[in-house]
Amino acid sequence: MAASLGPLVGAIDQGTSSTRFLVFNAETAELLSHHQVEIKQEFPREGWVEQDPKEILNSVYECVERTCEKMKELNIDIANIRAIGVTNQRETTVVWDKTTGEPLYNAIVWLDLRTQSTVERLLKRIPGKNKTFSKFKTGLPLSTYFSAVKLRWLLDNVEEIRKAVEDGRAMFGTIDSWLIWSLTGGTNGGIHCTDVTNASRTMLFNIHSLEWDPDLCKFFDIPMEILPNVRSSSEIYGLMKICPSRESGALTGVPISGCLGDQHAALVGQMCFQDGQAKNTYGTGCFLLCNTGQKSVFSEHGLITTIAYKMGKDKPAFYALEGSVAIAGAVVRWLRDNLGIAKTSQEVEKLAAEVGTSYGCYFVPAFSGLYAPYWEPSARGIICGLTQFTNKNHIAFAALEAVCFQTREILDAMNKDCGIPLSQLQVDGGMTNNKILMQLQSDILCIPVVKPSMPETTALGAAMAAGAAEGVEVWSLNPGDLTAVTCERFEPQINPEESEYRYARWKKAVMKSMGWES
Ligand code: ADP
Repeated sequence: MAASLGPLVGAIDQGTSSTRFLVFNAETAELLSHHQVEIKQEFPREGWVEQDPKEILNSVYECVERTCEKMKELNIDIANIRAIGVTNQRETTVVWDKTTGEPLYNAIVWLDLRTQSTVERLLKRIPGKNKTFSKFKTGLPLSTYFSAVKLRWLLDNVEEIRKAVEDGRAMFGTIDSWLIWSLTGGTNGGIHCTDVTNASRTMLFNIHSLEWDPDLCKFFDIPMEILPNVRSSSEIYGLMKICPSRESGALTGVPISGCLGDQHAALVGQMCFQDGQAKNTYGTGCFLLCNTGQKSVFSEHGLITTIAYKMGKDKPAFYALEGSVAIAGAVVRWLRDNLGIAKTSQEVEKLAAEVGTSYGCYFVPAFSGLYAPYWEPSARGIICGLTQFTNKNHIAFAALEAVCFQTREILDAMNKDCGIPLSQLQVDGGMTNNKILMQLQSDILCIPVVKPSMPETTALGAAMAAGAAEGVEVWSLNPGDLTAVTCERFEPQINPEESEYRYARWKKAVMKSMGWES
């Protein structure tokens, strides 16, 4: 007989690199079982990054089914899974046909740069070409990054999408919407919704009124009828339906009741519920979010304002300041896939460890321009400071160091905007398995870096939101209810002068990467 553990909560974590499904014990937050599948990225042209929405959806089904099989092997009763949360790569844009359930184009991934000319064209219509024209409404600068410009590009360039909009067949969504619509039935009554955190990344959403903004939709010329309904991050959106191609579904009938963009979910999973608490997540990109409570704070130093979470229909929205770095783990993947200097991401750590220095080499991985604090789409990647002595190990080290310098830049901006410097940095994400990176980060920031021993904080945040929803209520979202989180700490080991010297050289390298494409 399967063991009864009390209520369990599942989380779908759909990232840029991979999809995972994880199941947590709702009383202890213990991770009981999970399955992960890597996702392909397509680069059809320079600067273009696409993914297949069908592959993404199938990877979710596969992860759910495989995790449930593993749980059966562990003798854990899957009937105890009370709710499912969804957390996802943000901004990535999908348009599909609601009558067939088929995507009308590949998903345009958040990193994609094809909209540079769309951004330039739109900027010409704004007095003074002011990139931050909607800052106080959306919290965001006009950039290739956010969904509105990607959707504009699809409407301008894909005839099938234009036609589907005319015929009233088109639906737009970020990955959360695509998944929730498909998992709750798709063409057979699927729920077309998103949550406030994902909506706040589109540049079509007013982060104060918590509604789609008609003026911005007009500015981007986006038909409002294709937008999903915006819901809170914690409420029952719909029930899991049978996967059509599999004719079965281990979790059919379980409510999907949590939804948060991945960075927002990590903030929740790291229990950053207080004003001033922050976390930094190292995945494909790197994202530092600081909770600013129920008030939205607007940056003077290149950070963006975003909705942190809204834990229920009648609960208030909480806000965060965010520093977004486009390329973090992606530079490791680039060393592996494009240069072939390592077979796995883990091998990059070994290469760096063998030398323990970049030997004066600096690597600015501005593959998608630079995001915070520069917001400079014309920047391109550079490796500089090379000598006859430089080898692949030094380049691997410089790549890891680049992630740490970029974090220092956003932390500096955060400290200036918030006034009170962070005394330590809470971290998570796939890249934090790299111990060299964690030590380097502490050295470059000159503060301790603290990593929870359970690294799946993004999924935990989504699971907590799902479990706390009205009608599910197996989680009170009181961090005190969870077992004490054990952490690994990395303390600074170099003196601040050396750290400053290296950081100053990095800044010089960043200046060289700017304006390359202009
Ligand atoms: P995402 O949520 O964006 O899909 P993950 O949190 O799953 O990302 O992290 C995956 C990223 O972390 C990949 O880009 C991978 O190259 C990088 N990564 C994973 N393990 C390591 C490691 N040991 N050293 C360096 N980078 C790593």
